[in-house]
Amino acid sequence: MTSTSTPTVDEFDPHRLPRHVLPRRYELELEPDLESATFSGRVVVSADVVVTTRSIVLNVAEIDVSHVFVDGTPAPFSIDESSERLLIGTLTELRPGPVAIDIEFNGVLNDKLRGFYRSTYRDSDGVEHVIGCTQMQATDCRRAFPCFDEPDFKAVFSTTLVVDDGMLAVSNGPEIGRARRGGKVAVSFADTMPMSTYLVAFVVGRLEATEAIDVGGVPLRIVHVPGKGHLTAFGLDVGAASLRWFTEYYGIPYADAKIDMIALPDFAAGAMENVGCITYRENLLLVDPATSTQVEKELVADVVSHELAHMWFGDLVTMKWWNGIWLNEAFATFMEVAAVDAYRPDWKRWTSFSLERSVAFETDSLVTTRPVEYEVRSPADCDGMFDVLTYQKGGALLRMLEQYLGVERFRAGVRHYLNAHSYGNTETSDLWDSIEIAVARDGGEPVRELMDSWIWQPGYPLVSVTVSGTNLRLTQQRFLFDADADVPDQVWLVPIHVRIGSNEHRVLLHDSPVELPVGGEPVIVNAGGHGFYRVAYSPELLARIDRSVLATLSTVERYNLVDDAWSAVVSGRLTSIDFLAFLGSFVDERELAVWQVVANGLRSLGRLVDDTAYSKLQKRVLDLANPALDDLGWEPADDEDELLGKLRGLLVVLVAVNGADASAIDRCRRLLADAQRDPASVHPELVAAATTVVAAHGDAATYDDMRRRFAEADNPQEQLRYLYALAEFDSADLVRRTCEFAVSGAVKTQNAPFLLARCIMHRKHGRIAWDFVRRHWDHANDKFPSNTIVRMIDPVKSLNTPEVETDVQAFFAEHPIPQAAKTLEQVLERQRVNVALRRREQTDLESHLA
Ligand SMILES: [Zn+2]
Repeated sequence: MTSTSTPTVDEFDPHRLPRHVLPRRYELELEPDLESATFSGRVVVSADVVVTTRSIVLNVAEIDVSHVFVDGTPAPFSIDESSERLLIGTLTELRPGPVAIDIEFNGVLNDKLRGFYRSTYRDSDGVEHVIGCTQMQATDCRRAFPCFDEPDFKAVFSTTLVVDDGMLAVSNGPEIGRARRGGKVAVSFADTMPMSTYLVAFVVGRLEATEAIDVGGVPLRIVHVPGKGHLTAFGLDVGAASLRWFTEYYGIPYADAKIDMIALPDFAAGAMENVGCITYRENLLLVDPATSTQVEKELVADVVSHELAHMWFGDLVTMKWWNGIWLNEAFATFMEVAAVDAYRPDWKRWTSFSLERSVAFETDSLVTTRPVEYEVRSPADCDGMFDVLTYQKGGALLRMLEQYLGVERFRAGVRHYLNAHSYGNTETSDLWDSIEIAVARDGGEPVRELMDSWIWQPGYPLVSVTVSGTNLRLTQQRFLFDADADVPDQVWLVPIHVRIGSNEHRVLLHDSPVELPVGGEPVIVNAGGHGFYRVAYSPELLARIDRSVLATLSTVERYNLVDDAWSAVVSGRLTSIDFLAFLGSFVDERELAVWQVVANGLRSLGRLVDDTAYSKLQKRVLDLANPALDDLGWEPADDEDELLGKLRGLLVVLVAVNGADASAIDRCRRLLADAQRDPASVHPELVAAATTVVAAHGDAATYDDMRRRFAEADNPQEQLRYLYALAEFDSADLVRRTCEFAVSGAVKTQNAPFLLARCIMHRKHGRIAWDFVRRHWDHANDKFPSNTIVRMIDPVKSLNTPEVETDVQAFFAEHPIPQAAKTLEQVLERQRVNVALRRREQTDLESHLA
């Protein structure tokens, strides 16, 4: 029913709903038909009129509204598709007080992995089954039912799902009733706590659930497709541990009644923190600890902890508007690491977090980076916020603040914040103010001023350190890969830990230099290694960090020295030859994280030279990695530290792939064959490494075998390992076949973009993969989740010859990625940086290696 008496969209702010009617409670009933991929529904919103009005405005998209009643009376309405609004007129004036808005509607279960969508799986007989499931963030709840779809319209949700007999149905609240309805069953769920629409979830299908385990009174289950129950124990264990840890850390009990964690076969993001109904990609929740690598388990632990951290930070206390999404995600990233560090101290999670900080530095060293927070007007503006600057940089900034204030003082501030704003909505500055209040008791710190200098400015500083007379002198300037870029001067309030000899100093560097008395001792700036800045030592100070000093540094401090050195190469302050010589001082290194950054450096050097010089570089790789691998040995000890096992895997790949060592390659072929006969006979880290090695040196028969094993794998980790190995083959023809396979329909659209990305990353055949993606651009955009498109093409930045640069830059001038415009700009700038780097370094490095 439509009528000319409905309000028009021009009367309202194009991005924000009017505030004259506020929802309090939704009674939602949905009846999905999985076979026909449709659903029908009815929602009754109990709301409060706060200003006299004759209009009610909600959000709706791709939904067919059939009837609207306001307080029981049919009401005229219209839908404005471009602004995604349902405009309801009322025949009489609505005065302040309660109002009931009753809407009937129909929709389609889409294949775009957003709103209410279809996911599929095949059972053991090969029969396909459909699951109806949801992903609402950021603004797709309106695709499931008409609603006030902004985060500060918090309300209670009472959901009923009408489903076929034998189906499992889950939603945010626990199930409280079942009733026969025609040939179906109406499953009703308890009222939720007051929450935002983007956190609503429901899942329906032929699924199984584990027994609930009791975690301090909160039932915790995993829901999965049939036949995967044996992969749930680890997820439940880490879930229970995290839930307990967060309850203690925050000092507040979990605010809702239960938690289900649901492994979905099709999911665009990694996981989603829906209140009490957390959804995941299968490989981020289901894992077999006996056959998986440390990193595959850590990934599950990270993601489970991340989502559970959100149950408080994000769900109980929520941002007012989408500009605050960065803090929501940054904080959950910070907490995921803290919780996993507590769960498995032997994994040294804060050390491995260095790699994530490096990923943030990569983007934040570009002129086209962005401030962490920026003004968000339309909700689409926040699409670009789900990137490394939000998660990794934001998380690293919080870690820096925590380390500067002290763990206890920081936590006191977080507790103060959550208590003050429970069930409410906040701005970013509310957190800084809460922490500032908490630390005021013992001296105080300029928390808000400090954090404002980091979140509202793009980029980060390079802290230069020199000796001037009897003083150490610290100054700052912005760090950029493009040293000639014309950018305004910037100053940060930099919290710095400096170690002079064995004495540690804590200073705040601002616009004027900081000076500290110094003798001839070694000096470490960014002591502890958690600062979000790079350090440039004067040659004199660098010389003091000799091999004996290096051995006394923490792992993160050594990691940072290598990472800072490579960034100095990229920005033209250090030559690749000097960098290669510097890596030579790590031949005695036995810590995984340091080897990871050394390996990254070696691989990056490999992209600067042609194939003749590359074979010479392979010899250098072997000189560095072989002694470490020999020392560690190929045979894992029974009670070995897991990180040692992982280091062995890394060294094997370095020696056999990057070093092309023939005996190591043979050994990997034997190991993989053994593992394929008897999975328990080979250590998981060696299986994973051998898979990569065998693929990298494999022929067409090996390729066909791996593709078959991908199709038949019975756990998600093994499946992904074989899938991604298909991108490693050193054959133009096989890389082309992998690209074809990615778009054939045999690879889920949640994984296909990442498979193509790995093909583009191929040192030798990346160009072929790029040409393929370029030719299949429309197909990719049509079929793949929109948030994955920019991730798919991200590795074009490593294609560093002038011809490909011209081609790539011209292509994207005509094929923008509107949902990730900023990230695309960054990829393109990084490609230009890499082309310049190769142009600068290639000749000298090749003659040095000759
Ligand atoms: Zn998150």
